[in-house]
Amino acid sequence: MTENSEKSEKKVIKTLKIDVDKCNGCRACEIICSAFHATPRYSSNNPARSRIRVIRDPLRDVYVPVYAGAYTMAECAGRDQYTIDGKSYDECSFCRASCPSREEFKEPDSGLPLKCDMCEGEEEPLCVKWCMVDALTVEIREASPEDAEAEPEPEDLDIGLEALADKYGMEAVRTALARMGQPKE
Ligand code: SF4
Ligand code: SF4
Repeated sequence: MTENSEKSEKKVIKTLKIDVDKCNGCRACEIICSAFHATPRYSSNNPARSRIRVIRDPLRDVYVPVYAGAYTMAECAGRDQYTIDGKSYDECSFCRASCPSREEFKEPDSGLPLKCDMCEGEEEPLCVKWCMVDALTVEIREASPEDAEAEPEPEDLDIGLEALADKYGMEAVRTALARMGQPKE
C-alpha cells in the first residue's frame, strides 16, 4: 500500500471532549439537543429525549455530562472503566451506552435507543455551541477504517473526574457517584 492510499483511507472522527470541572449543571446542552432532535425540529424540548445527560449533585457541586454512545444488548459489557486517583470504577452512571438495565438514552415513548449523532448536518454540535462555559468542545482525530466505528476512549472524562477528586476529596466524589448511580424510582 502506498503512502498516499494509506492517507486517503484515514477517516476523520469527531468526539465530544468533556471538562467536568467547568460544567455548572445548567442543562442547556440537554435542552438544545432534545429540541434539535424533536420532530418537527425545534418543536419541543424534553431532556428525556436528549442524547446528552448531565449527572447532577448540586449539593456537592458535582456535574458530569455524559453523551450517548451505541446501544448494547448486554446489561453490562464492562466496557466503561473510569479511573479516579489511580483506582478503576465500573460505574453505570457514567456509561454512555443505551442498555436494557436503565432508563437513560432511550426515547421515552418508544423505548428506542438514542445515540449522539454529533448533530448531523450542523457545522458545530449544538451542545458545544450552547455551553457557555466551554465544558464541551469538539475533538477531531484521524482513524483508520478499522477503528472508525470504535467508541472513543473515556480518558477525557477520567481526567475530569480526577480533577473533581482533587477539588472535593476522593470520599466525597465516591459517595456522590454511588448515590447518583442508584436506580430512579
Ligand atoms: S451546557 Fe455546559 S455547563 Fe451547562 S450542563 Fe451542559 S456541559 Fe454543563
Ligand atoms: S453533539 Fe448534538 S446529538 Fe450529540 S449530544 Fe451534542 S447536541 Fe446531542
